[in-house]
Amino acid sequence: MLFKDIEGKAEAKKRLVNQVARQRIPHAQLFLGREGAGALPMALAFASYILCENRQDEDACGQCNSCLKTHKFIHPDLHFSFPVVTAQNKKRSDTTSDDFLPLWRKALENNPYFSLGEWLVAMDADKSLPNINVKEINEIMQRLNMMSYESEYKILIMWLPEYLGVEGNRLLKLIEEPTDNTFLVLVAENQDMILQTILSRCQLTVIPAFESHEIASYLINHLSMGQDQAIQIANMADGNLSLALSIGNNEASDFSDMFISWLRVAFKSDPVEINAWINGVAELTKDDLKNFFEYGLHFLRQLMLSSLSDDIPLQLTSKEKEVAQKMTALIDMEKMEIMAGILNDAIDMVNRNINTRIMLFSDTLTIGEMLRNKT
Ligand SMILES: [Zn+2]
Repeated sequence: MLFKDIEGKAEAKKRLVNQVARQRIPHAQLFLGREGAGALPMALAFASYILCENRQDEDACGQCNSCLKTHKFIHPDLHFSFPVVTAQNKKRSDTTSDDFLPLWRKALENNPYFSLGEWLVAMDADKSLPNINVKEINEIMQRLNMMSYESEYKILIMWLPEYLGVEGNRLLKLIEEPTDNTFLVLVAENQDMILQTILSRCQLTVIPAFESHEIASYLINHLSMGQDQAIQIANMADGNLSLALSIGNNEASDFSDMFISWLRVAFKSDPVEINAWINGVAELTKDDLKNFFEYGLHFLRQLMLSSLSDDIPLQLTSKEKEVAQKMTALIDMEKMEIMAGILNDAIDMVNRNINTRIMLFSDTLTIGEMLRNKT
């Protein structure tokens, strides 16, 4: 991963490049970016830059021996640590990131913007909770205390230190008495979930969320998506590239048609039609069903914005704008709020594996009643 592979974020890249140029790389830093902001790819690009044997002004060369290895995530001086669940044929307390390293590399190769949810699916985690355990921490300490293999530097990228237990405090020794040329890059999404002791000793680098146009251009370049669809998905992903990719990778991703037909069916509230619509939707996977409701929320947010002022540029395609116009004639702000509440609850219910057919049926009737009751 190179800096140039990451859309936008010029300022964050510049700050990191400067750290290396001035030889002022903090021993421990925390890259903080919410899900889908690309904090992990940024850490990977940063590590590649530090390890590159032929560093350019703004990026790694991408061609030297070291770059070839960091590109495949197999550089012996670049270590990874991340939340895992129990490995096959092992006890949980004996399982470390190493047991999942081949899977980790494959996941990164596939899509470095993967979310924790997707990582759990890749590990086949089912319902077990991931963490970074004591054995892992002890191994990190050992590894970083050894000599480096090929480079003069050693780097540890720890993804989601939120999943360190209190034993994570053992890392403090490494942070406070660092060995020379050893750098820790913690990549986190949620500052509040990190051990305070660790957080306070790391230098913070905020990785901002992507702009909509950056996400759209990524979708166009990497998924060969048409511009209209890319913009629609980017708008709805609200800065989260992981979410945009998960929606974009799915065939049935024209949620706007689905949502519009839901409103139409709800308005009529004919039980036969409702059933037919639900039959179609029930085919969706759990993730897509959530994406569908997320789309509905995005649409409503835009609708609310449009009723506040005519001047706000809406993140909607022209087809969506037409529907939005018709809808503002039917429902007011208060009803939009209620509908957003219904969609939020629906996402929650899908997460809790509640019978979606029953839920969809009752939600459709509620929404229908609301649409017909003019204010
Ligand atoms: Zn290089």
